[in-house]
Amino acid sequence: MKKITAIIFFALLLLTMCAQGQSKKEIINLNNNMNWNPLTPEEERVIVHKGTERPFTGELLNNKSEGLYLCKRCDAPLYRSHDKFDAHCGWPSFDDEIEGAVKRVRDADGRRTEIICNNCGAHLGHLFLGEGFTAKQTRHCVNSVSLKFVPVGESKLKRVYFASGCFWGTEYFFMKAPGVKETNVGFMGGHVENPSYAQVCEKNTGHLETTEVVYNASETSYEAMVKLFFETHDFTQTNGQGPDIGPQYLSCIFYNDEAEKAIAEKYINILTEKGYKVATMLKPASRFWKAEDYHQQYYEHKGTKPYCHKYTRIF
Ligand SMILES: [Zn+2]
Repeated sequence: MKKITAIIFFALLLLTMCAQGQSKKEIINLNNNMNWNPLTPEEERVIVHKGTERPFTGELLNNKSEGLYLCKRCDAPLYRSHDKFDAHCGWPSFDDEIEGAVKRVRDADGRRTEIICNNCGAHLGHLFLGEGFTAKQTRHCVNSVSLKFVPVGESKLKRVYFASGCFWGTEYFFMKAPGVKETNVGFMGGHVENPSYAQVCEKNTGHLETTEVVYNASETSYEAMVKLFFETHDFTQTNGQGPDIGPQYLSCIFYNDEAEKAIAEKYINILTEKGYKVATMLKPASRFWKAEDYHQQYYEHKGTKPYCHKYTRIF
């Protein structure tokens, strides 16, 4: 009996000694990993022990595909492909993160800013400001092994397009909808490449002010998106939306495939049966041209509400 007690005592002592070498936070992380992905020794060296992969060796360094970059350990979405740029530094670089996904902390060296996954605390890399690489003057220098790339087509994320007048107002409602992960405003349907807002205002580009909505198909549905589209604008107006008159403000659903088209038609039929004269057009999606930065999440940044859109429950 004495022998067993002694063994337990030494085992506990050993455990305590091992734990003293790590910070409290790391112990919590290491003990909380029930649902996290298993890591290879190299991933663990970087993600858990805050190591750095050798420059110019990471798998995602030159990846230019469209998609999302997730945390290797917990799968939280961290970065978007359109914020990635080539800084020629040897590690994947991003000039923006998905809002709230990345936490900045003072590095142990007391000098640099470390970046970690806001969800699980995984070490990602370091943050550098004011270097002049992009207009945002921000470089998230991230280890490839801390990231997992998911191409747009293979994820549950669906990218869909709606035009319902001034895109500030359309986006305002979609960005707040459950299951929506990202929204962008821009132009679609016209013949001018990479149009500016000013060009579209001249009313001869053929483009409509369009909102790109990215939603997670396991959290919401295209039907929910279509309902929200009809419930947040006057789809009977034929010359624009509210006080905004002109071809760029017309109501239109740009569908990606026959399934989306069928759902859009279903709701137009429901509305027609309810007595509405629906002016909404259905057109196949074409290239989406993102508008200038100051148009993105406009009301959110302004802290004001749309003048031309409001929510009215119909369905
Ligand atoms: Zn994570």
